[in-house]
Amino acid sequence: MSEMKRCQVCSEQYDASDPGDLDCVVAFLGRHVPTDRSGTIYILHFDSPTHVSEADNACVQPTTHYVGWTGQPVEQRAEQHGALASSIAAQRQGTAEDEKRVKREESCPRCGVSLAPECLGAASR
Ligand SMILES: [Zn+2]
Ligand SMILES: [Zn+2]
Repeated sequence: MSEMKRCQVCSEQYDASDPGDLDCVVAFLGRHVPTDRSGTIYILHFDSPTHVSEADNACVQPTTHYVGWTGQPVEQRAEQHGALASSIAAQRQGTAEDEKRVKREESCPRCGVSLAPECLGAASR
């Protein structure tokens, strides 16, 4: 029985029940990450525009805010972004779908600025 899922990293559909269909050329760990997997959503706040390493394509320019989702500890993910742990303005449990909602609707808990202009960017195109 197939179990079709969508990968939140490459946006392709794959069959989660088929071990031969799990490889992802884009995902950090080389495996597709289903959009309904629970992980941690985090908001990064920078005092000045900062280039985020390994950012998704929504944030290729230096930015003062970055919203991401990770299955790893957030401190570890922040380090991969080249960010200090002190940049983490918020983190909470959620899925990639929740992450999109945060980008669309929420404001930075540290400075109150709306996240959408910087964090939605290319993702909404
Ligand atoms: Zn994928
Ligand atoms: Zn902020």
